[in-house]
Amino acid sequence: PYEQTDPPDVEQLGKSTWTLLHLIAATYPEEPTSKEQADLKQFVKLFGNFYPCWFCAEDFRGYVQTNEPDTTTQDKFGKWLCNAHNEVNVKLGKPKFDCDLWKKRWKDGWE
Ligand code: FAD
Repeated sequence: PYEQTDPPDVEQLGKSTWTLLHLIAATYPEEPTSKEQADLKQFVKLFGNFYPCWFCAEDFRGYVQTNEPDTTTQDKFGKWLCNAHNEVNVKLGKPKFDCDLWKKRWKDGWE
């Protein structure tokens, strides 16, 4: 729907990044150790310090501050991330995604 440009613009960066983040959720352990839980939470916070779209990153950091990432299980993190993505969808006037379906979209497939 939108053009590929060099360097990638905010839309291309966003689509690639959401793919990476949702796939991290999809491969995160269903029963993570406490170290894995702490590391993923730290990753999400540090990600917000370095995301290469400054106004996106600023809003994301705000979201993370009021909505602590839930890294206690794979499903909880997948849903937390889905809600974070929906926050951006709403801001951009895009439809909200049904977070009960996150695993079909990003892990198991629709069949
Ligand atoms: P995307 O929103 O990139 O989604 C890709 C695919 O994910 C969709 O096709 C759908 O199948 C699936 N999907 C959609 N919603 C969800 C969900 N809630 N959970 C799971 N899967 C879902 N752009 C701006 O213009 N301003 C911003 O402030 C901004 N902030 C961003 C912050 C972050 C952290 C990230 C990663 C991106 C941000 N973006 C921002 C980019 C924006 O979110 C989109 O990535 C971009 O507009 C391209 O949208 P898209 O229609 O290709 O689909």
